[in-house]
Amino acid sequence: MIADSKLVTTVHPSPNHSGKRIYPLTRISVHCVVGQCTAASLGEWFADAGLEASSNYGVGYDGSIGQYLPEAYRSWCTSSYDNDNRAITIEVASDTFEPYKVTAAAYQALIRLLVDICRRNGKKKLMWFGEKSRALNYEPKSDELVMTVHRWFANKSCPGDYLYGLHPQIAAEVNKQLGSSTASVPAAAKKTKKMAALKMFYIGEGYEYSPGVVKTVQRILNDVSYKGKDGKPLTVDGIYGVNTDYAVRAFQKKHSLTVDGVVGPATWKPLIGAR
Ligand SMILES: [Zn+2]
Repeated sequence: MIADSKLVTTVHPSPNHSGKRIYPLTRISVHCVVGQCTAASLGEWFADAGLEASSNYGVGYDGSIGQYLPEAYRSWCTSSYDNDNRAITIEVASDTFEPYKVTAAAYQALIRLLVDICRRNGKKKLMWFGEKSRALNYEPKSDELVMTVHRWFANKSCPGDYLYGLHPQIAAEVNKQLGSSTASVPAAAKKTKKMAALKMFYIGEGYEYSPGVVKTVQRILNDVSYKGKDGKPLTVDGIYGVNTDYAVRAFQKKHSLTVDGVVGPATWKPLIGAR
């Protein structure tokens, strides 16, 4: 089995599947493992035919990404013949207790994987409806993927309240990256190269940065009472999502800086002096 995605770090073919899906790919289902494992150990688990369970992909707590079935195959994951024949399924390593939290590394790997799946499959938008009947009755356009969750098909809490609550943010972050792929990525990539030495201190779209640095920005913005797009203080999770982006832009506007959502030297200076 050859991995469909270049992001895959480990391939463990699973015998637990129904062969190729019989419907076109129109859905994506994110699950929680209920265990903080690596993608490789989840793969070893799904390699057991006696388990009668699988997923197309798995994301480890460490950000590792495993593929267990080709994207074109129907996994045994969501307790639904109908759903799994339409969905790529992704299991994400999580705590074993409510709300089944996932690590920042796992979350970021999940976002990267979703963007990659969309790009390779000609999908430009993830659709999250937050409601089973609306999601299942919606007829997606050829470039849309509808997000569905396991709890709609079985008496389970999967994907857990943590990931379930993040579904709007997951859709927003993925769509933002998909939307920006045509317009702003080349410029940002050039900027990243130029600023290579400083890149860990640049935060925002188009940059690679450590979650620790993002947490620092989130703490400072909270201390000086900037709110996210949701009107609430930022969650200090090291994830540069829509709420952090919103607060950074508000801070930049207030300080008469270029409002671009990128924390570079010009923004760091007043930020550090702000509290
Ligand atoms: Zn599940």
